[in-house]
Amino acid sequence: MCNYYKKLFTCTHISNTLVERCRPACAPNTPTCAPTHHDDPATWDASLITHARTSIFACFECLKAEAYAERNASISTAAAAEKDPVKRAEMMKAVDVYAVKAAKAVKAEGKAKLEAVKEWNWKKEADVPP
Ligand SMILES: [Zn+2]
Ligand SMILES: [Zn+2]
Repeated sequence: MCNYYKKLFTCTHISNTLVERCRPACAPNTPTCAPTHHDDPATWDASLITHARTSIFACFECLKAEAYAERNASISTAAAAEKDPVKRAEMMKAVDVYAVKAAKAVKAEGKAKLEAVKEWNWKKEADVPP
């Protein structure tokens, strides 16, 4: 017999009706068993709600709303920093420091490659018998 249930999320929202399939209903193209007491859909729904299983999560809509709120907050913080001249200067300085570091790294890499080529040429010359 398939088991119908609802979930009670931590945000106190209640899920749609979910079904736990019984073993025979797990076979492909097999419909789920009809609920045993479905003569009055409203009563059945109410009983599913009173026996709702507790979830340890908030519902999808609430999680989504929270994620959007977080994203919007970070965007407005960034926008505020952009408008504040002091914070803007700090940001520009950070970018400059990063650019200088990157340029140094590229230069060091180029130097290392040049040294490697020089060493290789020197070795090649040394190999040549007099
Ligand atoms: Zn079943
Ligand atoms: Zn919710």
